[in-house]
Amino acid sequence: MTMGADGVERCRVLVVGAGFGGLGAAFALRRAGYTAADDVLVLDAADRVGGVWRDNHYPGCACDIPATLYCYSYAPNPGWSRRFPPHGEIRAYLEACVDRFGARDALRLGTSVEQARWDDARGVWQVDAADGRRFEAQVLVPAVGQLSRPVIPVIPGLAAFAGPRFHTARWDDDVDLRGRRVGVLGTGASAIQVVPAIAGTAAGVTVFQRSPPWTLPKPDRRYSRAHRAVFRHVPGAMRLSRLGVWAATVVTGRAVRGRPVARRAVRALSVAQRRLQMPDPALRAKVTPDYPMGCKRVLYTSTWYPTLRRPDVELVTAAVAEVTATGVRTADGVEHPCDVLVLSTGFAATQILVPLRVIGREGRDLHTQWSDGARAHLGMTVPGFPNLVLLYGPNTNTGNTSVVYFLQAQAGYLVQALELLGGRTAPHGPRFEVRADVEDAYDREIQARLADSVWTACSSWYRTPSGRVVTNWPGSAGEYRRRTAHLDPADFAVATASAAVRLH
Ligand SMILES: Cc1cc2nc3c(=O)[nH]c(=O)nc-3n(C[C@H](O)[C@H](O)[C@H](O)COP(=O)(O)OP(=O)(O)OC[C@H]3O[C@@H](n4cnc5c(N)ncnc54)[C@H](O)[C@@H]3O)c2cc1C
Repeated sequence: MTMGADGVERCRVLVVGAGFGGLGAAFALRRAGYTAADDVLVLDAADRVGGVWRDNHYPGCACDIPATLYCYSYAPNPGWSRRFPPHGEIRAYLEACVDRFGARDALRLGTSVEQARWDDARGVWQVDAADGRRFEAQVLVPAVGQLSRPVIPVIPGLAAFAGPRFHTARWDDDVDLRGRRVGVLGTGASAIQVVPAIAGTAAGVTVFQRSPPWTLPKPDRRYSRAHRAVFRHVPGAMRLSRLGVWAATVVTGRAVRGRPVARRAVRALSVAQRRLQMPDPALRAKVTPDYPMGCKRVLYTSTWYPTLRRPDVELVTAAVAEVTATGVRTADGVEHPCDVLVLSTGFAATQILVPLRVIGREGRDLHTQWSDGARAHLGMTVPGFPNLVLLYGPNTNTGNTSVVYFLQAQAGYLVQALELLGGRTAPHGPRFEVRADVEDAYDREIQARLADSVWTACSSWYRTPSGRVVTNWPGSAGEYRRRTAHLDPADFAVATASAAVRLH
């Protein structure tokens, strides 16, 4: 990074977001030799790295893909305390990686980005932070996540609730739940972790369910000291563990994508879990989904149903009508008293990149271009927006395997994109831009495959109000890795320093 006399900080690659995605990009660039001070800069609005693993610290928060797969393949961690480690360990892993890959100096934390504008004449992105600072970069890499902006539901009376209320991603550690009745709105991925964790501490928990999730047993286990020693010292042990998890996710992935054998097997496991853990038919009926498995995220848990059977936990299935000062009133007229309200109501996942205003070539606004739903070639590059590579962009989410696997593939693609510009020693000025026909063909393919997918069988956070699935990747993780492993230069219009090829 170099600071000009004009106060503008300049670098080759500017990453926005210091979660698994943005940090992984910085690590990949360091590993590829981009080690100069002005090669990479990573901005984040928060004052610590970690992304969702910094923001989500509610009781019970942990990953739901085993950590031997939910990490960078080049940085295995033999120190995981358990198969599905808690949020704090994952955040600590990211901090350790920052030091290991020499990325600490590249961080500019406490920097909230508002706008990025492409300066076509100079071939640079101008990026403005909320506090007035300006950055300039040859390549812009927004890595702001799909699940970084909590959704606060619109419910009459919510603001008038007299007690503490907060979203799971904004957990208030100062609120002592002991002796208090806690209402939890939602039964998604966060709720199924937080409710078992607080039941027994709170005086009682009332869970308000809109639709029950499909679940699978979570085979969590503590790693003993001996197990960790094997991970540390036996060559290939961690790789083998990762392979085993990978194989399991191949089966669940096939099930979600509708392959008959895998689907029948995984469905049978889910149904058996419900039968075994919910012997009471009335309660079981309440937790039996009425939509096909996989349409909403399938959740891994072994504690959800036993928790719902506790005498101090109540599952309410009547629709929430309003929040009063002292509780929640459901559509059947019953008021459920609550002292604390936890909003486990998810994230604005389909509003991809919404925190940023991004202006590309000829003044085009990315969100205007995306008014029918976000789209990008391989989820990363967009016509009209030169030298822009998105991470965790449109249609790169997965419900059944590790998002980090996808992010690592994207970081590798980014490194190849930089090679298009001439690599580490290239002068500023050259640019690449995905061809509109290439992006269009890709989008038609992806949307056609998604139209046949289970995700169109119900409404979920994967879909825009118009029904377009903008979050999920329709294929396997292996397919995504294969398609991103070798960037095809023919997909791009490239203008080198000598401007041999015109962009537009
Ligand atoms: C509770 C929870 C559990 C999860 N568990 C799993 C799991 O087990 N397995 C799995 O595969 N996936 C899981 N996910 C999905 C998770 O989103 C991804 O795995 C991954 O962590 C995403 O990383 P990211 O860097 O793309 O985004 P994030 O982690 O969301 O990071 C984005 C960063 O961008 C920053 N940012 C946003 N806007 C701006 C701005 N305008 N200016 C500057 N900075 C900005 C944010 O502060 C944040 O640090 C989980 C998500 C949540 C919320």
